[in-house]
Amino acid sequence: MPNDGKAWLLISRVETFDTKTAGSEQSGSAVFIWSRTIWIRYYRSTLSSSFLLRGGRVIDPASGFDATADLLISGGTIAEISTKPGKLSVPSGGALIECEGCFVVPGLIDPHVHLREPGAEHKETIATGAAAAVAGGFTSVCCMPNTTPTIDLPSTVEFVQMRAAASRKARVFVAGAATVGRAGEQLAPMGAMSAVGAVAFTDDGDCIASAGMMGKVLAVCASLDKVFMQHCQDPTLTVGGVMNSGVVSARLGLGGWPAIAEEVIIERDIRLNRGHQCRYHVQHLTTAGGVEIVRRARADRQPVSAEASPHHLLLTEDACNNYNTQAKVNPPLRTDDDIRALIEGIIDGTITVLATDHAPHASSEKARDFTAAPFGMIGLECALALYIKALVESGAIDWTRLIALMTIEPARLLGIDALGHGRLAQGLPADVTVIDPNVSWKIDSESFHSKSRNCPFEGWQVRGRAVNVFVAGRHALVGGTLPATAILTAHASFNAL
Ligand SMILES: [Zn+2]
Repeated sequence: MPNDGKAWLLISRVETFDTKTAGSEQSGSAVFIWSRTIWIRYYRSTLSSSFLLRGGRVIDPASGFDATADLLISGGTIAEISTKPGKLSVPSGGALIECEGCFVVPGLIDPHVHLREPGAEHKETIATGAAAAVAGGFTSVCCMPNTTPTIDLPSTVEFVQMRAAASRKARVFVAGAATVGRAGEQLAPMGAMSAVGAVAFTDDGDCIASAGMMGKVLAVCASLDKVFMQHCQDPTLTVGGVMNSGVVSARLGLGGWPAIAEEVIIERDIRLNRGHQCRYHVQHLTTAGGVEIVRRARADRQPVSAEASPHHLLLTEDACNNYNTQAKVNPPLRTDDDIRALIEGIIDGTITVLATDHAPHASSEKARDFTAAPFGMIGLECALALYIKALVESGAIDWTRLIALMTIEPARLLGIDALGHGRLAQGLPADVTVIDPNVSWKIDSESFHSKSRNCPFEGWQVRGRAVNVFVAGRHALVGGTLPATAILTAHASFNAL
């Protein structure tokens, strides 16, 4: 970097900068890129503890607030929101973030991600997954317990929490396993995991197949007032299944995975749950029949909710043509009729939560033949734009509802609304996402912060992106760029300009 006696802030992964005042330097295996213009613009903001977000459209679906306003962050909390232009000023030492033309919303919350640590750190770590979350506009994620070892003990829950805190990116909430080793045979110590902060329980990746065990799990979750999240797949109906059962699977000669495998579990669980009244959540709903079952249960005032995933709204089984393993996912991509039913379910309030089911896998694993390749795709860094495309650009729902489905609704699901997440109001933790709805960009997984590249949307042209993200008042995404934490820390003692 220039040796001019000035304090330079090194930032990595700069996407745009003034080449006249920029340069780069290699040190060991790391390449540092710097830019005086970026530094001048961002130095103060990344090291400040107060920020004025000026002139954005502030949307808080929980309270119904939706107006052009200024939002002041100070000391980790939302200090004030004002619709009077000029009333709030930048505090001394604080930073001004111009938000004109942007939406200022509660930090996005993803209730369904796989961070792969412990056990499969070559796919993702808690740190890289939490970085991908922030880059995608998420301030909180809830990670699934299908790691190695399984997250089925309080000590493993605490391990994840510790790693997440050390990464200083998004908040990571933990879903504990409902059964030991997710084997479906013996109850896991859910009370003890709950006591150290597990927010939900699930054996995701696998369904709890035994009705007897399912009844016990629902009883425990009800007594703990924790949501149970089901991966709805009757394993006896999906033996050998690798994609949706239908004409495409028949033509490709691949094992079929019928819609009924999802539907019978939802139907069974809702019936089992009548005696427990546990909060029961259907993960990654994919079938028209499943939507109908959830709709009926909610009309019957059963405590049932459901989530959608971006790929199940935008891709059909046709994406598996040519044995494209990027389209192999569990549950599988379905049909146009199913997509229509899912979107209808989102419009009428049957589906209240949007998740990603972010499931990283190494390129070498996805390079296997279709039957042997693992299920799953990454989602954190493109989900927002994909949901905008599937739901807002299509006219299905408006921006306010989209934001609700990605903030207050998942916060309520996980019970973290009580901690002030999913909302924007004075005194609450400053988890805030600024979205530029007009920025048009091309999905390029090479630019992602996730360790994995298994994205079936590669090359798609999309619109809308998170440009600034605050987690507990910390400026975690700066003008679309993730500051390198270690470098920021090293320079934290520098004085401002
Ligand atoms: Zn699942």
